[in-house]
Amino acid sequence: MSGANVADQVEVGPNRLIGEVIAQTDELATIQVYEDTTGMRPGQEVASLGHPLSVELGPGLITQIYDGIQRPLVDLSKQSGDFISTGTTAPSLDRERKWQWQPTARVGDSLPGSAILGQVQETTAVLHKVMLPPNVSGKLVNIAPPGEYKITDTACVIETASGEKVNQPFFHAWPVRRARILGSRLSPSEPLITGQRVIDFFFPIAKGGTAVIPGGFGTGKTVTQHQLAKWSDADVIVYIGCGERGNEMTQVLEEFPHLKDPRTGRPLMERTVLIANTSNMPVTAREASIYTGITIAEYFRDMGYNVALMADSTSRWAEALREIAGRLEEMPAEEGFPAYLATRLGEFYERAGRVEYAAGHTGSVSIIGAVSPPGGDFSEPVTQHTRRFTRTFWALDKALASERHFPSINWNDSYSGYIADIDRWRKEKGGGADTWNDLRAEAMRILQAESRLQRVVRLVGPDALPDDQRLILGIADIIKKGFLEQSAFDPIDSYCPMPKQTRMMECILHFYRKGQEALKTGMHVIALMDLPVVDRLRRMRVEVRNDNLPGFDQVFKEVDEQTEKLKKEYAKP
Ligand code: ADP
Repeated sequence: MSGANVADQVEVGPNRLIGEVIAQTDELATIQVYEDTTGMRPGQEVASLGHPLSVELGPGLITQIYDGIQRPLVDLSKQSGDFISTGTTAPSLDRERKWQWQPTARVGDSLPGSAILGQVQETTAVLHKVMLPPNVSGKLVNIAPPGEYKITDTACVIETASGEKVNQPFFHAWPVRRARILGSRLSPSEPLITGQRVIDFFFPIAKGGTAVIPGGFGTGKTVTQHQLAKWSDADVIVYIGCGERGNEMTQVLEEFPHLKDPRTGRPLMERTVLIANTSNMPVTAREASIYTGITIAEYFRDMGYNVALMADSTSRWAEALREIAGRLEEMPAEEGFPAYLATRLGEFYERAGRVEYAAGHTGSVSIIGAVSPPGGDFSEPVTQHTRRFTRTFWALDKALASERHFPSINWNDSYSGYIADIDRWRKEKGGGADTWNDLRAEAMRILQAESRLQRVVRLVGPDALPDDQRLILGIADIIKKGFLEQSAFDPIDSYCPMPKQTRMMECILHFYRKGQEALKTGMHVIALMDLPVVDRLRRMRVEVRNDNLPGFDQVFKEVDEQTEKLKKEYAKP
């Protein structure tokens, strides 16, 4: 037992199954094995690997599909077929592949931890910066000249402060439960553009920010996470499918490799790392998967990239935590979750952020976690605790989903803590002319007024309301059908660029203003809402192509012409 520590990795039995020490007393270590332990018996040997669960970081990560402990699933299935037998292992990074290397650091440079040594073009989309590990620094004594290398070759030799010479290969290992050493944190202010209107326009997330998508079964968590993975303007995507049913994960594995990156037209996998865990994999691997994912995300952040991490679903992760705690006979707290659930969630979301490095570059990790509260009840512990640690809340709504209003993000219950920062960022960037926040505020006022009016309508019907209030109901309906609803499966509507979002909202609010004027001249609201342009406003999301911004001038013109014509008809004696 000497030298064994809690969290160390161990190999168990003749098949050398990988496990982790999860509790330890003087004479007893409790080990959770990451794989099925059928057939294991007393007296088998256990060997400590002497280090905690770590991931390998270096060229070869992108396009990989890993399980929760970074075993490459494609390589494993080549060895043992689709049902991976226990004890099968393969190195996380390809040892044989050669990479075209271009050094950028110079001999004699004094390098801090995480310093960039040089680069390899990993895929068309990702230029991989080879870095020193965060805990290694010193003078660069030697660096590999340009050429082709395997990741195990020596990239450079560093002389540390103590005079020791360290040979550094093209990759390094990092313990997953420890955040990589940071530069200085900056406050997130640049929006992460997702192409999803309800998110970008109403409840945006900043690069380096955090968001949570809670929603009961079938409300659209997975579709939303996929949309974000496909469309968000991050440089690198880390997608963790955590403990969902096996067949759902299969869908991800089958679908993702065929998706095209809208920016490059190349396969989306060329900027993606997938981590796949299903609920039939052992709980510890599931518990580990989000740490594996975030560590890979931090690694790309350190290169100066904007990384978006999606975790679907963190509820399955919390359940793994509960199962492990139960086996350790720890005191259960709320709903059987261990008392440290909140701390663990906090530690995870805390690893998001925008960072500035000594070398002058910045990078970010944004975390978007899905939560599947049992029965869609948001008062359960995982949703509640996650809410405390995240600044954006996209509340999926069962009622909206059953009306087939997608994405079913409820505009009354959702919020974003980044509005003011993003507004400032936009104004600084756009020379003071950006109107986004004003448009957003006005649309929000209309939607909130509509919610209040709906209560009255339920009691007395819409006919009892005065015309100006009925106009609000009509405009809110256009905002819902024409703006908030967005089909993930429509080729045009699936992605909506920000300038189009702005023009769309301008058109709707222009009609609102024209409508208000018209009502003042005595026009009836029914006549107004019967105008053909109302239908046009509802359909412009699919009818006006994403690159056809002048198309909205036409919609403006139709609003003007049709309201003017109606006014004239009303003015006739
Ligand atoms: P969950 O992961 O919350 O159980 P899913 O993401 O699987 O739910 O969504 C359930 C169904 O809802 C999908 O199969 C799809 O038909 C529909 N859906 C969800 N979001 C959208 C969207 N943005 N556009 C169109 N359909 C959607």
